[in-house]
Amino acid sequence: NIKSNLLFFFFMLFLTLLLVWKFTNDIVNPLSQITRIADNLAKGNFKDRIMIKEYNNEIGTLARVFNNMATQLEGKINQISEEKNRAEAILTSMVDGLIATDANMQIRLINPAAKKIFDLKDYKIKGNSVIEVFRHHEIEYKLEKAMKGNEILSKEIEIQKEETKILKCNFAPINNDQGIVIGGIIVFSDITELRKLEQMRKEFVANVSHELRTPLTSVIGYVDTILENQIEDKNTIERFLNIIKKEADRLALLIKDLLDLSKLEGKNKYVLRPGTLSNIIDKTIYILREKAENKGIELKLEISAEDMVYIIPEQIEQVLINLVDNAIKYTAEGGQVVIRTYSRYDKVVVEVNDNGIGISKSEQERIFERFYRVDKARARSLGGTGIGLSIVKHVIQNHQNKIEIESQPGKGSTFRFYLDKVKP
Ligand code: ADP
Repeated sequence: NIKSNLLFFFFMLFLTLLLVWKFTNDIVNPLSQITRIADNLAKGNFKDRIMIKEYNNEIGTLARVFNNMATQLEGKINQISEEKNRAEAILTSMVDGLIATDANMQIRLINPAAKKIFDLKDYKIKGNSVIEVFRHHEIEYKLEKAMKGNEILSKEIEIQKEETKILKCNFAPINNDQGIVIGGIIVFSDITELRKLEQMRKEFVANVSHELRTPLTSVIGYVDTILENQIEDKNTIERFLNIIKKEADRLALLIKDLLDLSKLEGKNKYVLRPGTLSNIIDKTIYILREKAENKGIELKLEISAEDMVYIIPEQIEQVLINLVDNAIKYTAEGGQVVIRTYSRYDKVVVEVNDNGIGISKSEQERIFERFYRVDKARARSLGGTGIGLSIVKHVIQNHQNKIEIESQPGKGSTFRFYLDKVKP
């Protein structure tokens, strides 16, 4: 009978469809999902997860294991990329130069500081060897030695750029897990400034010792003369004592100047306060009037700025006294010294002008150095220590302003500095 056959046929068809649907749903769909997501994983997309309804069969277990794997992979990759970013940030912000090479000493990595130190352009670096890039056989030799001997080496190297640079270089091997050397690292620290400072300090100590020794030798010399020759003539003794007194005064002045300078160079933070210059100028004149009069030098004032300025009064007083004292010292009898102030935009300009011996261009750059004197003998006989102008420069620096000099030998000099006006 057809009817029951037909019924059976449809029943079987339905059953088959049901099975196909179930098979597709439970196996094919999850599998194709797994394939797609595995594909995404390979491409670097770690966010997708497999969504299936049934977790209690083999496919479900597979999906669960797969999702777990994806989660762990995502975590690991995030961790690695975080570490990579951190390493990159460190390399980029490092002051020291750093390069890493492979086992053949081809450069694999270089940080911005290293490029700056050696003034290197990118196209010159990529894939080139250490010797090709740095053209310094000492660098190559030390790196090779560090890699061959699997040890850390250090060496100070001079390189010739615009000016000579002194670099402290550290060479280290890179090992893999088995301890095999697979590359090398060089770290370059630029110690040029440090060496310069050391040099300056050495010179300074030598200068100070020399400056202190000269008057002291003189004092000892005269005292010895008196003692050894048993000089009893009152006049001679008095003459010698006067010289000794002068030299002792000079020593005291030198030490005072040195202490002033070291105070200014110290770490003390100074506070600029609003104030006017009039008191300071009055005091300067009061202190130096006699000295000027003795030399027949006219001290003139041309004040056209009375503005409040930001100053450290004690220090500006020291500056003015030093400048006016110099102007009197280095101007011939009958000359003229002018203290002038005027307003220029947001600054008050202060000038000390003389018509004295002047300073040549080449000396102008040097007179602010400690102990520098154009004519040592002359300055010394005038009681100069060579420190005055270095104090002046420091003070003006403390005021975040600049000092200028205009001078012509034989004509005279003008020292000019600026101070910030207090805004009304
Ligand atoms: P010093 O104690 O010898 O005056 P300074 O540091 O004050 O030391 O000045 C350094 C040198 O600058 C002086 O020795 C002098 O040669 C030169 N100098 C300073 N001021 C003047 C000036 N107004 N005219 C000419 N030369 C000057």
